[in-house]
Amino acid sequence: MTQRRVLVVEDEPVIAESVAARLRAEGFAVDLAVDGPGAVAAAERTVPDAVVLDVMLPGFDGLEVCRRLQASRPVPILMLTARDDENDMLVGLAVGADDYLTKPFSMRELAARVHALVRRAVRTETQPVSTLRVGDLEINRAERRVHRAGAEAQLTPTEFDLLLYLAERPRAVLPRERLLAEVWGWADTTGTRTVDSHVKGLRRKLGADLIRTVHGVGYALEAPR
Ligand code: CA
Repeated sequence: MTQRRVLVVEDEPVIAESVAARLRAEGFAVDLAVDGPGAVAAAERTVPDAVVLDVMLPGFDGLEVCRRLQASRPVPILMLTARDDENDMLVGLAVGADDYLTKPFSMRELAARVHALVRRAVRTETQPVSTLRVGDLEINRAERRVHRAGAEAQLTPTEFDLLLYLAERPRAVLPRERLLAEVWGWADTTGTRTVDSHVKGLRRKLGADLIRTVHGVGYALEAPR
C-alpha cells in the first residue's frame, strides 16, 4: 500500500510539531508549511492526499490557501479554526474545506478526521471514471443518467449537476453558498433559495432520505445502503 501524504500548514511551531508527530506515528508522510504562500507552493510540490490547514496564517490566511488549492488541484482539507469562530468555519466550508476542527483539539480526534478524509479521497479515485456509485445511487457521468435502487430518475441538467457534486463528496456538509459557487458558478450568494428548490426536486425524484438538511448551513448527501 502506498504511503499517504499529508501537508500540515500551521505557523505555531508547538502545534505544528505535535500534529506532524502524531500523523507520522499514524503512518502518513508529513510535510510542513508555515504560511499561506508556502502552503500553496508545498501543495504543488508534494501533491498531498489531504491537508491540515490552520486559518490564521502569515502571508495570506488559510481560507485563501483553501481557495487556491481547490481552484488548481482539489484535495481534501481539514481546517483548524479558532475557538468559537463560527464564521471561519462557515467560510472555510464555503471555499472548499471538507471538515473542520476547533482549537484546542485532541490528537486522537485529529488523527481520526485525517484518516476519514484520506479514505474518502482514495475511494473516489479508485472508482471507474464514468460511473459513480454511492450506496444504492448510481450516476453515469458520460450519459448523465441516474438510477436509485435500479430505477431511473429523470433529472433536469441542473439537478444532475447538483446531485453529482453532492455525490462526489458523500456525507460532507456543503453550504448553500459553496453549492451556488461550484454548481451554478454564482459569486453572488443571495440566490441560496435556488439551491433549496433544486434539492426539493431531487428529493421528490430520488427519495426524501437521500439528502440531509444541515440546519443553518446547507446539505449533505447521505450514502443510502
Ligand atoms: Ca496560526
